Amino acid sequence: MQKLYFFIFIILGLTMFSCKTESPFSGLTATDYHSFAEPNKAVVKHMDLNLEVNFDEKIILGTVNYRIKNFGSPQIILDVKGLNIKKVEVDKQKVPFSFTDIDPIKGQGLIIPITDKSSQILVEYSTIYGQSDALLWIEKEQTLGKKYPFLFTQGQAILSRTWFPCQDSPGIRATYKAKIKVPKGMLAVMSANNPTEVSADGVYFFSMLKPVPAYLIALSAGELAFKPLSNRVGVYAEPEILEEAANEFSDTELMVQAAEALYGDYAWGRYDLLVLPPSFPFGGMENPMLTFVTPTIIAGDKSLTSLIAHELAHSWSGNTVTNATWNDFWLNEGFTVYFERRIMEKLYGKPYADMLAELGYQDLIKTIGELANTPKDTHLKLNLKDRDPDEGLTDIAYEKGYFFLRVIESAVGREKFDQFVNQYFEDFAYRSISTEDFLIYLKNELPEFSFEKNKVNEWVYGAGLPVNAIIVNSSNFRNVEKKLSGFLKHNDLSFIEETQKWSSHEWLHFIRKLPFDIQVNQLEILDSTFNFTASRNNEILAIWFEKAIYADYRKVDKALETFLIKVGRRKFLIPLYQALIDTDRVEEAKKIYKEARKGYHAVSTATIDAMLLEE
Ligand SMILES: [Zn+2]
Repeated sequence: MQKLYFFIFIILGLTMFSCKTESPFSGLTATDYHSFAEPNKAVVKHMDLNLEVNFDEKIILGTVNYRIKNFGSPQIILDVKGLNIKKVEVDKQKVPFSFTDIDPIKGQGLIIPITDKSSQILVEYSTIYGQSDALLWIEKEQTLGKKYPFLFTQGQAILSRTWFPCQDSPGIRATYKAKIKVPKGMLAVMSANNPTEVSADGVYFFSMLKPVPAYLIALSAGELAFKPLSNRVGVYAEPEILEEAANEFSDTELMVQAAEALYGDYAWGRYDLLVLPPSFPFGGMENPMLTFVTPTIIAGDKSLTSLIAHELAHSWSGNTVTNATWNDFWLNEGFTVYFERRIMEKLYGKPYADMLAELGYQDLIKTIGELANTPKDTHLKLNLKDRDPDEGLTDIAYEKGYFFLRVIESAVGREKFDQFVNQYFEDFAYRSISTEDFLIYLKNELPEFSFEKNKVNEWVYGAGLPVNAIIVNSSNFRNVEKKLSGFLKHNDLSFIEETQKWSSHEWLHFIRKLPFDIQVNQLEILDSTFNFTASRNNEILAIWFEKAIYADYRKVDKALETFLIKVGRRKFLIPLYQALIDTDRVEEAKKIYKEARKGYHAVSTATIDAMLLEE
């Protein structure tokens, strides 16, 4: 069966895609274990969402109209989870529908009978409060303005199916339009062209006419205001932080220009940012045309904006060329980290980019250590069958992916590598590809790059970090270590003046390098000199709190509690709760979590529940 469909798809692929016709690649031939959809039998090509956001009941309800392509199948399957399906129509006729068995991770397949001639289906449904994991409903009291509640969706990896029925595989792309009704006075925005002003009736229209996978369809609504940063870049935020956000992100247009100079024109029209409440579980989410970002990167000095470069880079790697399955996640993230650091190097110089790379290297080594018992999770090509793909969201995809691309860059030279990457983005535009597709392409396009000599097999299908990884050596960090060593030995703080010029990366490195058994009185001296506990920079706060917990420096306790209750970004939460567990402060951790949990998104609570509640 599979082979036959594979063959059919190659033929279809040649006519459906506008890229090089001799290309044999199609991510749609890869098996996605995380979706019930059978795109090689019947596939969704376009969706029209007609939805109402009901904040009183905390549900989204309405209809989705799908334009489909049937390759001769008697049925089409959509992914659903935590949804109440009310009615299904095929070509405007009501039809009976059924479901597959429930899978605890994937949810269910919604099976709709179709004929050879069917071209349109419609599903009427509503979400179910407490079961639609993509949605975070934020009470008005938890917003800055306190006048309106707030909602945002998070689709990656397989959560879009919890807020609308869809073929929820990164290998399946569709265009979409939407009509969204929200309470009057609120602004709705999506990963599409967006309004900049509040409408009188609370109704908004959207369209995304480039095909995107379902995980990139996103919606947010709240009391939002817009400020342009250039003629194609702008920022949406709650009015209270709009100015601050606009200042922090004022280099975004320069970033877009730097990115275009590297890897070709920005293809999506506008590039806007949406600043979410602090409960957003990630740093950023690369929703097309509208990156969702955490307010925790607003540090007042633009020092954490490499995250914007990262989300922007996803406009090429991830959104234009997409991983075919979540096992190929490194194709999205490894390329994006590489691209992000090239943007930062172009804008702020090599020493700056070197610091980012060395911090990334530290993260990678730490992650490889943490995954010592499951070494297969350190392969670039993952095997997430029967697991939540969220488990693949580790630094391996990001940093091992980055260091693998550095190996190719260093072997063939930057100029050649840049040509290769440019061509790669062009040849695979609006397609989803697998790791194997990439490797064949690499072999064809850069024949001088030896797979054997460069240990490609070890990088992709092997554990840990191969010996030919590039060594990054940040001269700024060597200087920081010298100063730290003087302090640790004899409390030497004569470098205070120099630290005026330190970026937050130097500070991060300084604090990361503090030994875990550092004496409390030394932490006290550092705190009273540099005010870490009162820092506005959340990256610094998070690592400082972690060190303080392990060293039993209790003066941070109040600030730590406030931080854990306010911030829902999972990357910060995991090490802090872990530190409390490791230091026999589980009860205290549970108490804080009890209070904080209602403000976290399901992506974060799934992880922290497993750490604290399921013993
Ligand atoms: Zn990313």
